[in-house]
Amino acid sequence: MTELKHYHHSIYIDGKWEGSESGKTASVMNPATLEKLTDVSFGGRIETQKAIQSASLSFPEWSKKTARERSRILYRVHELLLERLDELATILTLEQGKPLKEAKGEIRASASFFLWYAEEANRLYGEWIPSSLPGKRLHVIPQPVGVIAAITPWNFPSSMIARKVAPALAAGCTVVLKPAPETPLSAIELITILDEAGVPPGVVNLVTGDAEEIGAVLMKSKEVRLLTFTGSTDVGKHLMRGSADTVKKLSLELGGHAPILVFEDADLKRAATQTIASKFRNSGQTCICANRVYVHEDIMDEFTELLKEKLNQLRPGNGLKDEIDLGPLIHRQALDKVQAQLEDALHKGAKVLVGGGPLSTGLKGHFYSPTLLKDATDQMDVMSAETFGPLLPLQSFTDEEEVIQKANDTDYGLAAYLFTENLSRATRVSESLAYGIVGINDVFPAVAEAPFGGIKQSGVGKEGGSQGIHEYVNLKYISTAIH
Ligand code: ADP
Repeated sequence: MTELKHYHHSIYIDGKWEGSESGKTASVMNPATLEKLTDVSFGGRIETQKAIQSASLSFPEWSKKTARERSRILYRVHELLLERLDELATILTLEQGKPLKEAKGEIRASASFFLWYAEEANRLYGEWIPSSLPGKRLHVIPQPVGVIAAITPWNFPSSMIARKVAPALAAGCTVVLKPAPETPLSAIELITILDEAGVPPGVVNLVTGDAEEIGAVLMKSKEVRLLTFTGSTDVGKHLMRGSADTVKKLSLELGGHAPILVFEDADLKRAATQTIASKFRNSGQTCICANRVYVHEDIMDEFTELLKEKLNQLRPGNGLKDEIDLGPLIHRQALDKVQAQLEDALHKGAKVLVGGGPLSTGLKGHFYSPTLLKDATDQMDVMSAETFGPLLPLQSFTDEEEVIQKANDTDYGLAAYLFTENLSRATRVSESLAYGIVGINDVFPAVAEAPFGGIKQSGVGKEGGSQGIHEYVNLKYISTAIH
């Protein structure tokens, strides 16, 4: 791949690609083959400070552009992403491992965020408040917060950036981006497109390198007014603590432990297809993936058979091949975590119905068999700790109240799903689930036009929707006395 050669200078500050000051680089691997793809620059404190300064200097001009001007550039980003869909998806699969069809879906999702926020840029309205006193005019206007920092994960190396950068730019903010070290190439490609689309130098800056060092500078900076992060709950807490001294706004999309509730009146075929799609998409490495499934006891046998049938049809392998449904896990630690949860569950009485362990595909990557467990109990780690891999435990239930209570008995609160054909039950249960997102007969709730975000320890703030752009503005209240 000839495109890979320019990645050596992967730090982008004030519209220029640079290497790190120290000359250090880090390798990017293909997780399917464990072959090295390329090296990228390994930046740290100095590069991050420069990036913040560049974002800060470009803020006045960018924020004063009309919404229409910013919107036009974002439309162009949307077009370019779709024009380069195949190439971008290939790079994404190479560095991340997900099947090409999923990578294409992700690039389309990235494009959809730019389209949506190109539109929303023009709808960022303020408010006029009728005054209780004569001779006064009360207004509220939204203003961009300033420089924002975005720290993004490897599981969606393109769309998690788009979901942050598109609303930030639409609102008039400038950006310092730190992508995941596993998947910097999609970030570099996206920045290249932003540049081509007409985003002025300094408005978006990219620093690849030392996560802790870059994170520390971003947290301490008084100029960075908002930190947006998608990743693990532990790192989210660390960033929240570290942002306290400068009282930054925070937008955090953290871990999840999504339950699926399958009621006896569900359309079982649909429920089975969707359960498999939810759990095994991206090999289980999404924060809204099903982590545990509660199945009504009357339908357990039938539902289990349907799941087994569908699971046996999944084809693991190198995501670049058309027929593949299941790629590798991102790295060895990810595989070890799934294996540890499996062993814990088996030790505590669960039974394997399908799969159950690492998978040999002839490739060096860390592949894991799509695995189905029955007889899961609440004491098993898999029922409370995030798995982030292709392991699906089933537990039976008898009663609606009981299963709602179990579903809510977690520190997480990102996404939950239920399958039922009964409208009253769907309404009752969806309103009782303590989650930021609920899917009724639907495991694909994430779209650009709707607010995505968790409650409890799954995070704060919303991404997407008309709400998503509001994270990036401060509301200013202006009171005018007329004399
Ligand atoms: P995961 O476990 O899915 O890799 P992480 O929360 O560790 O999730 O990583 C998500 C993002 O957070 C990545 O870009 C990673 O480099 C970054 N990150 C990890 N640790 C820190 C840290 N101490 N400070 C700032 N960023 C961090």
